[in-house]
Amino acid sequence: MINECPWCGGNDLVVNQNRWRCNNCHSIGYVEMPSPERLSNIYAEYGDSDRNASLAMGGTTPNIARSLLNAAGWRAGDGPVLEIGAGMGVMTKTMAEMGAEVTVIEPYCSTDFLAMGARHHYRDVSEIPLEQSYSWIIVIEVIEHVFDPVAFLSQLGSRLLPGGKILLTTPNAAGSRAKREGFTWSQIMNLTHLNLFSPHSLAVAARQAGFESVHRIRKPVAYKTGWVSNSALALTQVLGIDGGIRLILSDWRSP
Ligand SMILES: [Zn+2]
Repeated sequence: MINECPWCGGNDLVVNQNRWRCNNCHSIGYVEMPSPERLSNIYAEYGDSDRNASLAMGGTTPNIARSLLNAAGWRAGDGPVLEIGAGMGVMTKTMAEMGAEVTVIEPYCSTDFLAMGARHHYRDVSEIPLEQSYSWIIVIEVIEHVFDPVAFLSQLGSRLLPGGKILLTTPNAAGSRAKREGFTWSQIMNLTHLNLFSPHSLAVAARQAGFESVHRIRKPVAYKTGWVSNSALALTQVLGIDGGIRLILSDWRSP
């Protein structure tokens, strides 16, 4: 039984079935984590298309990819890029077309990343040659699926070149929708989401993983189609209450 939030140390936790939610930092987790076997059964039940969509930003279009990269301050000439969880390859193709040297980590999807312009495709970070490091690591909607987020971020930090940065996105458990919907929030209903973060708890995890600089991107990202919808979304993004957290992590030192 959990009685203290692992991120903020608060003890005002609300429990619903097998999930807890922290009333202090708004993070959400499992009371008892599903075993790896149970988790792979859940993925199998959801089917490949859902796995692709949830693990691999199946909804990303080239316009969204460009808008996100622009908001992050990414430039094709910055140096080699590592993309974790490349899914359908939309982000890979966008960056490669802009001239970037992209290496892809994707354990599940059968996308032909080399045909989309990637230089290398590995199934796991541990397969990357030790001498290879990156100027940018792109981690879109992945960390909520990871058993040990701190160890995961630390492993990525160790693959950064000096001055390198991580672009990290994940659902916002402190967003207005998450607060309104409580335990019926769709991101909680997705059982493959092991940890759902707020901006505060994600920064705590990043600092524990060794990142001295954690910067939240407030610049709007055009996730929707149409000027009116994107303008409404942009307002919530500037306020930081939209459905996503977008961070830049840098200045990594081994914790
Ligand atoms: Zn908390």
